[in-house]
Amino acid sequence: MKILNIDLDGVVADFVSAMNAHPLRNELPFDKDPDTIPGLFRNLKPIESAISSVEKLLHSEKYEVYFLSTAPWDNPSAWTDKRLWLAEQFGDKINRRLILTHRKDLVKGDILIDDRPNNGAKDFDGEWIHFASKKFPNWDSVLNYLL
Ligand SMILES: [Mg+2]
Repeated sequence: MKILNIDLDGVVADFVSAMNAHPLRNELPFDKDPDTIPGLFRNLKPIESAISSVEKLLHSEKYEVYFLSTAPWDNPSAWTDKRLWLAEQFGDKINRRLILTHRKDLVKGDILIDDRPNNGAKDFDGEWIHFASKKFPNWDSVLNYLL
């Protein structure tokens, strides 16, 4: 089995839409750092086809799936919100499969699906599947490649 690490924001969870629609988005002190809005990460909508696609990967014999995400340091509720959001989407089968870090390059694995190079993603030791890029614009293209 290959270890498959999957980023959350911009890959499974639509963080940007929730942030831009939030009533505190342009209020002090959040206007400069909207990702520090308490509770922001609790009610995100999934990215299109993300849940069914990750379900397929979770049931695949080929991959052991982990979620590899970064939570804003100055938004402590985000660390809890991500854990609760994942359980809500996928239930018990993702128990203990969440890794939160600012250094994704220090985490082992064969593949990382991530939409951005940030927080060590571009220096990940395994293969980086650049989600939302020309080569992998959506989940269909990722599943075609992986399964
Ligand atoms: Mg991301």
